[in-house]
Amino acid sequence: MIYDDLKHFRATELLSLDGLTLLKRGITAQSMDALIKLDNFRSHLNTEFNCNHNGLHLRGFRSPSENSTLYNGNNRYSFHFWCAFDITTPNLNIWDLFQAAIDFGWGGVYIDEVHNFVHMDNRAGTRWFAKKKDGLFQLVDLP
Ligand SMILES: [Zn+2]
Repeated sequence: MIYDDLKHFRATELLSLDGLTLLKRGITAQSMDALIKLDNFRSHLNTEFNCNHNGLHLRGFRSPSENSTLYNGNNRYSFHFWCAFDITTPNLNIWDLFQAAIDFGWGGVYIDEVHNFVHMDNRAGTRWFAKKKDGLFQLVDLP
C-alpha cells in the first residue's frame, strides 16, 4: 500500500472518511504521483505539515459527495478528488509556504489567509496561482 511507503503521512492524514472506506476495499483514491510529491515537498521544507488534523478530514482526498456537502449541495469539480492537499505549517509563514509550493512545481496553488492554509494540487497543463479572499479567487502576480 502506497501510504506505508510515505515518510511523513499516514492514510488518515490524507484521506476523508469516504477515502478511508475505499482504501479498506483496496482502492487508492489519490494520485500516487501527488502523494510522493507531497512527501518529498515535506522532506524538502523539513518542517511539520498538517493536512487532516484537529477534526478536519476533507483537506486531502474527499469524495464528490463530501465535496458537495462542503459546498452546500453545489456539485463542482475539485482537484481534491485526485491530487490536492490543503496544508498548514505551524512553523512557517503561510506566504512563505505559498511561494515554496510554487517553487516546488505544484500545478495549482492558492493561499487562504482566512483559514490559514495553502492549497496545492498536481494538475497538469497551465499552472494556476491565486489568493482566496471572501470566497473568491484572485490571481496572484508573481515576481
Ligand atoms: Zn484545497
